[in-house]
Amino acid sequence: MTVQGLFATKFHAKGQVSAIPRIAVVGRGFSGMMSAIALMKTVRTPFHLQLFDPNSSVSGGQALSSTRSSTILNTRVRDLSVSLGDADDFNDWLCSNAEFRAAVPAAIPGFRQIFVPKQLFSDYVYQRFSEALAARKDITVQVCHDPVVSIRRRHANRFLLESANPANPIFDTVILATGYGLSEPEAVTEDQSPLRSQRLVARPHAALLGSGIRVLDQLLQLRDSGYTGQITIVSKHGFLPQSHTPNSADPVFPAEELPQSLPEIVRFIRAACRKAEEEGRSWQSVMNGLRRHARSLWRSLPARQKRQFNRHLRAIYDSHRNRLPEAMYLRLKRELAEGNTVLRRGTADRRGLSGIFFTPAGSDVEEVIYAERVFDCRCRAPNLAMPLMQSLISSGLAMPDELSLGLAVNLRGEACLEDGSTVDGLFAVGPLGLGSLPDIDLVPEIVSQAYAAADKIGQQLHPQSRAV
Ligand SMILES: Cc1cc2nc3c(=O)[nH]c(=O)nc-3n(C[C@H](O)[C@H](O)[C@H](O)COP(=O)(O)OP(=O)(O)OC[C@H]3O[C@@H](n4cnc5c(N)ncnc54)[C@H](O)[C@@H]3O)c2cc1C
Repeated sequence: MTVQGLFATKFHAKGQVSAIPRIAVVGRGFSGMMSAIALMKTVRTPFHLQLFDPNSSVSGGQALSSTRSSTILNTRVRDLSVSLGDADDFNDWLCSNAEFRAAVPAAIPGFRQIFVPKQLFSDYVYQRFSEALAARKDITVQVCHDPVVSIRRRHANRFLLESANPANPIFDTVILATGYGLSEPEAVTEDQSPLRSQRLVARPHAALLGSGIRVLDQLLQLRDSGYTGQITIVSKHGFLPQSHTPNSADPVFPAEELPQSLPEIVRFIRAACRKAEEEGRSWQSVMNGLRRHARSLWRSLPARQKRQFNRHLRAIYDSHRNRLPEAMYLRLKRELAEGNTVLRRGTADRRGLSGIFFTPAGSDVEEVIYAERVFDCRCRAPNLAMPLMQSLISSGLAMPDELSLGLAVNLRGEACLEDGSTVDGLFAVGPLGLGSLPDIDLVPEIVSQAYAAADKIGQQLHPQSRAV
């Protein structure tokens, strides 16, 4: 859904400082929209909000928007509320949606445990955003369709944003919500591909690069649209997402103190999973329990062990935390068992005219996977090389985290510097904080961080008027 015409537009001359605090949110994906909702619900005094993103649509963001209405989120409804302190908000929204209730009668009276299409979640986020805006006659919102290319400090703790529009004013507060960066062009499809006339295998063949949820999304999308060809999944580590339990897996975790070193922690978690299964619970409930300890655990690890985790364990961790609804998992298993889809472990190299060059794990001999269609579904990381990030880092307003996965931030999303101090007025919400905070790429964690940032912003702008 586009938002043109919905908002009051108010331009200020470059450099002009307004009496009303000005807040910029860079990125209008889920993290940006969530930050806007949290600000409107938390900061009780008037402000002007400016949302930057070249992507003209407002939705759940690149990750959560989908061209297919059937694409399912892999998080249960109960964990997707955007309302602080009201875990049932999304469930209540679904219950009040007559069309949805009629389509999914089995889940009445509540939908807490089910998985719903991404588009529905996106509609919910957008509606909550519109309601929060309608309830605030004292704020103005402006939507800008330019990418922000740099941020510089101006007038003490104020910021100048540079984009194609030379009239950007000075901002008191900036929230970076740039997620996985600016989107790239779509994958090459059969109809547009020069490879079509050069098929080298008897049966149509597609290659999917990656191993996360996006691979599964693409695989099911191909099959649902009638594609009957062979599919090869090329995965660096070979770990595909595991399954959710049919019903919710309540978090459990051993009460004993966690060991200090990474190998001991891994053994400890494995033992906890085994024990849970012996006692009739599931390993999924231990993983859910682990998520509650993940932040303190991550903080306690020295940088060397964090790097070790990233190299050797992150792929396994991701395949166990980003799980598939059981029905999707069973479809994947069937595909693999029937051989229509094969999983190959190794590294995808460059694209060739007839497919993709590939080096199998444990080998140094490159081979070609012949494929007419190649889809790059690899998880994208925040892009520290983009001019915006480089401007922040080179001017000392932000620094990369220890692993250079994103920016160093704290729980409230405040940008952190080498000496442990934070930069007044500068926040980064969502996946940009992935190297500092585990799971900050997931909806529940983004929601908490956005409210914590908004609370802090409310205090910074008007120390006397805390949110009620
Ligand atoms: C396929 C998939 C499925 C997922 N499913 C789930 C799920 O079921 N449950 C869950 O909890 N999580 C899920 N996630 C993860 C999670 O939802 C995402 O991490 C989250 O939505 C990230 O949103 P974001 O707004 O931070 O980033 P993005 O969606 O990447 O949005 C960032 C926005 O910033 C804009 N931008 C970037 N750079 C600039 C710039 N310089 N100037 C202006 N604008 C800029 C981009 O155009 C973009 O619109 C999923 C992720 C994927 C990939």
